[in-house]
Amino acid sequence: MDGRRTGVRVFVPRSRLTPPHQQLTQEDRRYLFRVHRLRAGDAFEVFDGEGGRHDAVVDAGLKSATIGEARTAVSPKVVLELWQGVPKGEKLDLVIQKATELGVTRLVPLASHTAVRRLAAERLPKQLQRLRRIAEQAARQCGRSDVPEVVVPRPFEDFLARAQEGVLAAVVYEGRGQEPLWRFLATRIPATIPPVSVALAIGPEGGFSPHEVDLARQADVPLVSMGSRILRTETAAIVVCALVQAASGGFD
Ligand code: SAM
Repeated sequence: MDGRRTGVRVFVPRSRLTPPHQQLTQEDRRYLFRVHRLRAGDAFEVFDGEGGRHDAVVDAGLKSATIGEARTAVSPKVVLELWQGVPKGEKLDLVIQKATELGVTRLVPLASHTAVRRLAAERLPKQLQRLRRIAEQAARQCGRSDVPEVVVPRPFEDFLARAQEGVLAAVVYEGRGQEPLWRFLATRIPATIPPVSVALAIGPEGGFSPHEVDLARQADVPLVSMGSRILRTETAAIVVCALVQAASGGFD
């Protein structure tokens, strides 16, 4: 079958891969044959969410594909953890989508003191499943072969504990008089052997509470600024990821 090289990508978790023949799920088939109109013999790519890519060709029955051996992607220059104050409404969806496009490795919903919205425990599994789906779709769209982790919400104190584990950590704080984030990154990342692990915390709409700021200071975790304009929390997340990529060669 002479097929086309389509450039279409499908996420199959590494745990579900069965090379050389891969059964296509109903969702895979919808995406390949209804959305992208692929036909038998057409070539597409399977990525496994952990850095592996496989050339794939649609089999005659349109129920499976023949997939090649894994080609692993170059490992990232930075491992970026974004601890995102849980914002109102659907803004976390936007943050996950944009942070995925901007190379985030792990997204930690931050149950900070001023967060108005809490991811309710009983609805958490369903919400996490939806948020992880957004990360998968964003990874598929932007060409990543790894999918960022979206983990369960954690308190600010956990971020401070993480900061003690040898990662380059800082609280991105709207108060005045802090070192600019761009300079914090520019002076520390080049001196670190890649991949450098960076963990940055962003507050929700209400920002960080005075108590959280005190806790950060007591823990010697730097507070860094992004200038005098107060950015929306979702804007701050995008800028933070972009600054980290700019400082670590992620835009080269
Ligand atoms: N309630 C805060 C106030 O009125 O000052 C604003 C919080 S802001 C909407 C949400 C988060 O974005 C902040 O907690 C911080 O993490 C980040 N952020 C926004 N603008 C910033 C800036 N100029 N410098 C550093 N962080 C900023």
